[in-house]
Amino acid sequence: MKSVVLTGVLLSMVVAGAAPVAADEVPAPAVLPAPTNVTGMQSGTSLIVSWEPSAGATSYTVSADPSGQTCTSATTTCVFDALPARARYSFTVTATDGVTVSDPSSPSPTIRLRALLAEPIFPTAKVLVGRSAQGRKIWALRQGNPLAVTVLLSVGQMHGSEPAGLRVTDRVRNAPIPDDADYQLWTIRTMNPDGAARGDRYNARGVDLNRNFPGTWSARQYRSGRAAGSEPETRVMMRFIQRLQPTGTLSFHQPWNTVLSVCDQRSAFWVRRAAVLIGLKQPGRPSNCGSWYPGTMSRWTARNTGSWFVTVELAPNGRVGPQIPRAARAVVKVAEEMAEDSGPAMGLGTN
Ligand SMILES: [Zn+2]
Repeated sequence: MKSVVLTGVLLSMVVAGAAPVAADEVPAPAVLPAPTNVTGMQSGTSLIVSWEPSAGATSYTVSADPSGQTCTSATTTCVFDALPARARYSFTVTATDGVTVSDPSSPSPTIRLRALLAEPIFPTAKVLVGRSAQGRKIWALRQGNPLAVTVLLSVGQMHGSEPAGLRVTDRVRNAPIPDDADYQLWTIRTMNPDGAARGDRYNARGVDLNRNFPGTWSARQYRSGRAAGSEPETRVMMRFIQRLQPTGTLSFHQPWNTVLSVCDQRSAFWVRRAAVLIGLKQPGRPSNCGSWYPGTMSRWTARNTGSWFVTVELAPNGRVGPQIPRAARAVVKVAEEMAEDSGPAMGLGTN
């Protein structure tokens, strides 16, 4: 509309034989000024867009980029509540007085709409997972955002003779993770406190907890327990993991100096990523695709939740020192990278 008016003015000047004038000397046509200072802000799972008013405007139309969805308002705010989460948006606003429409505003700064849960999975940041055979407490601690959809579980120790993951967990728990992070990170220092107290691989009843989980349990396995899920540590972990429904799980062991995963695509991705971040040897192909131990926590978790599962085998005690800080940083980095991933493999496109 502006250009039509301008062309008409220039044309009349040409007809009158006057010299052409620069556009900025032409009197501006009476149009509505564009709205200014457009900003977006997340509240719950909605995005609230606000702006400075344009003189003479009676209503405004906001459009979201990408998605193209629009929102109309007679005030200077508008709420989008059906935008896909886990995407970045910017917004432009036009004003109208019922007759003319302003130019679009400058786009707002980009804002990332994060998926959020309606309620925390656990109401507190410290949860009693349960008790060991000898009555020791197994605790889980949360860092990060209790409403975040992305949930990483990191288990420092399952075998009491493998202490490196305890040190990794202590470092992770000291990492400054903001309460408004895009993820929640749950750490269990040890799920075998009786074994840890004696420096013994097995629990107090002599059972290898990583052979005791149901689903793939076998009576023929060495120290697999008298039945699937016969051990209290196994059962309390099953109950906790069922309720937490982690997006991903890291389980620390020693001393193989490599990474292992169950045989699925997402685990295959994160097992390579964990190896790179910690500096461990990568398996030549997705591990455990051909053969695996029966009764492992990894296979039970993969079968009973949507979680990927990576077993991190750190170096033997004498050589593990330099890996500890790297592994701790890797735990936090994996959580951050999971939260950034908006791909369909995460199964979390919208909420
Ligand atoms: Zn182990």
